[in-house]
Amino acid sequence: MDNANRLPTWAPRVPKKLIRRFYETDAKGIYDGDLIDEIGYALLARCESFITANGARAGELPCPCCSQTVQREELLRCPCGWELPWAAYFKTIQHTQLSGAEPVLEQFRDFVNAFPSARTARQKVLLIDRLIHGFHWYLRGKADNGPTRPVAINLIEGRMGDVVAFLEELTYGDQSTPGTTDNRAEWDANIDVNRNWYPSRREDRA
Ligand SMILES: [Zn+2]
Repeated sequence: MDNANRLPTWAPRVPKKLIRRFYETDAKGIYDGDLIDEIGYALLARCESFITANGARAGELPCPCCSQTVQREELLRCPCGWELPWAAYFKTIQHTQLSGAEPVLEQFRDFVNAFPSARTARQKVLLIDRLIHGFHWYLRGKADNGPTRPVAINLIEGRMGDVVAFLEELTYGDQSTPGTTDNRAEWDANIDVNRNWYPSRREDRA
């Protein structure tokens, strides 16, 4: 049985150059269906990996061989014959930006559900734009919620500072899909709440 100890595989984060091209094209008022789908489905696969990895941490995971649900125990075991120590499984999700709490999971689930049924290019662009400008939130009671890390770090290649600087520099124009500049402005305000975390925002920067 070649697959008896198979490790799970996770969709990678999306390359910056694809996202850059997506915004440049949109700023010219062009809907490139192939590009939109390429990015949309790459993000969707990444969201699914994120959801699965967090589900595994919480206690249940799909068998990497046959997809049956396996309970998290010290030794993971599936009726199909697959088994793997949880420690080996967990190692594949550590330090891979595949961890987040419920507010992020909810955003990612919404995207996974909505993107395949979006009918127009414009709807797809707005779903992608909203997804990559999302945030993790801390929840300490209703009056004390606030944005923390941008979810772009979980979806786009690079370190936090690079990803934030990258999103700051994306191209927008008069022809950009209506709504994208509003998402951008909201993102900007949320980043500013924790501006000292980001080299491109620090007021004391040289
Ligand atoms: Zn199995």
